Amino acid sequence: MSKVRIKQVSTELLDIPIKRPHQFSTVKVFLKSFVLIKIELSNGLIGIGEGTTPGIWWNGESVETMKLVIDQYIAPLLIDKELTYLEQLLQTMNRQIRANPFAKATVEMALFDALGKMYQVPVHQLLGSLNQDKIAVRWALASGAEDVDIQEAKDYIEANKFANFKTKSGKEIPEEDAKRNLRIAEEVKSVSSIGIDPNGSWDRITTMKWMPRFFEAGIDFLEQPLAPYDIEGAAMLVEMKQVPVMADESLATVQDAFLLAKEQAANIFSLKIHKSGGMRNTLKIAGIAEAAGISCFGGTSLESSIGTAACLHAFASIPNLDYGSELFGPSWLADDPVKNPLHIEDGYIHVPREPGLGVVLDDEKVAKYRRKEKGEVIA
Ligand SMILES: [Mg+2]
Repeated sequence: MSKVRIKQVSTELLDIPIKRPHQFSTVKVFLKSFVLIKIELSNGLIGIGEGTTPGIWWNGESVETMKLVIDQYIAPLLIDKELTYLEQLLQTMNRQIRANPFAKATVEMALFDALGKMYQVPVHQLLGSLNQDKIAVRWALASGAEDVDIQEAKDYIEANKFANFKTKSGKEIPEEDAKRNLRIAEEVKSVSSIGIDPNGSWDRITTMKWMPRFFEAGIDFLEQPLAPYDIEGAAMLVEMKQVPVMADESLATVQDAFLLAKEQAANIFSLKIHKSGGMRNTLKIAGIAEAAGISCFGGTSLESSIGTAACLHAFASIPNLDYGSELFGPSWLADDPVKNPLHIEDGYIHVPREPGLGVVLDDEKVAKYRRKEKGEVIA
């Protein structure tokens, strides 16, 4: 095989509507923005990837910063380089550009899609093969209204779509949040269970005070209850040996994973390919978790089928993915920029088996959702 080089890197922004508004601890979102990247090779193959974030409040990156970083700084490092030196390309990117893990993960995704298409294998075969071919999905109850959340959970259980849930919390004062979660847990008890994600909004005392009640109510996990920097507080919660404590915002880099394991400040790691700068880093973090006896959960940045496929390829090889995933992005969006969207059935999402990421870009949808310039009429 002659040397295949990277010929061109291009990006564009997409704004895709969501089915219902989503309440995070700080903001309510009504549509989801993405940066779509295409990497064209000298043999004509094109690798695709996407970058997205819950919002700039999450780690400081946005789709606009990702686009700028990729266009201005990463693309010139890739042009004319050999694709088979993928790891070396990632190392160069890390040496030349500090931080910006979401932008780097977007690029890595397209590089792996291109490599998989070149060798005609799905990305999971490049990352460590399959340990499982489908992964359980937990739905996030995030309407912002308790009654709506309870009804939504019951409807999904009835329809056999999702069996378990997590609630987005942190918008209300911690005491009210705790009570609301206990009411939801009570309503779905015996048929389902919930995890709670306050996105780092709670304080140590409130969390410790309510911990025994959460334990009694059968709450599955507390995801990042405390501020991301409060590693000592998280270790105190773990020490209580009641509801398992999950690290999300406090865990991004491989070094974060090592520190959390060393300080015994998490029972579960929420893995996310974007926050960790890609699939390769995510698997290294899962390895640290495995060595430390920590479980893993397949987290999401609410990707479309493109990014969700990348998450699946990475998570599918992980042996300690004990808590399943929250890869519900494709079900949450009102539309998907691919011709073969991923589906969730009976609470599971299946790993694509086609070469590369295994999803095919739909050019008409891309044109439809391409960000409109100011003054341009939205069709
Ligand atoms: Mg979270």
